[in-house]
Amino acid sequence: MNQSEQSRQSVLSQIEQACQQAQRDPATVQLLAVSKTHPSLALREMYAVGQRSFGENYLQEALTKIEELQDLEIEWHFIGHVQRNKTKHLAEKFDWVHGVDRLIIAERLSSQRLESQKTLNICLQVNIDGQDSKDGCQPEEVSELVKQISRLPNIRLRGLMVIPAPENHAAFADAKVLFEQVKSQHAQPQDWDTLSMGMSADLDAAIAADSTMVRVGTALFGKRS
Ligand SMILES: *Cc1c(COP(=O)(O)O)cnc(C)c1O
Repeated sequence: MNQSEQSRQSVLSQIEQACQQAQRDPATVQLLAVSKTHPSLALREMYAVGQRSFGENYLQEALTKIEELQDLEIEWHFIGHVQRNKTKHLAEKFDWVHGVDRLIIAERLSSQRLESQKTLNICLQVNIDGQDSKDGCQPEEVSELVKQISRLPNIRLRGLMVIPAPENHAAFADAKVLFEQVKSQHAQPQDWDTLSMGMSADLDAAIAADSTMVRVGTALFGKRS
């Protein structure tokens, strides 16, 4: 086993164990490989050992990698802060955008997604634990935003994304409550299937609170410089 395979297997078994603890089926948790700051070669190696979905935070860096890795069938996720004037590239080059937190962003992604492409998957980012410095809408805005965003063409609202403060595991349970509230209130629950939460340091706690997608960087690729 090479280093990439070892790291990936170790994260996958951590996910499996967390699922066992939580009495969940491991197939319900997707591993998103967060590859920001790592070179295309590192992604290529992770791909070679079976990884298909990758998350990037910085647009310019991501566009370069998408270009360099276009021979691979990668599912690209943008997990960084979404700037209003950068939505066109996101709409055209990615499969998922996790950091949508305002209606205008969703509207732009919807109108800039090409008709010839599959619908763009998006998550609504929520500032679940009231951090000042963080992106994300307020929990009380979620219901109205879901209603408005769900009407837009070319995008599919799949669920919520949260990044609570380190060790604030209670916030994962709050996110789950909010996720279930939306599910019971809105018309298209079949599209509402994603709770994007948990990183290298807290993926177990996130899985215990029903995360369906953990975003893991350090544990897969090593420390970022
Ligand atoms: C960098 C990043 C991650 C991965 O963090 P690690 O601690 O390296 O696993 C996950 N989600 C977001 C939004 C990030 O920016």
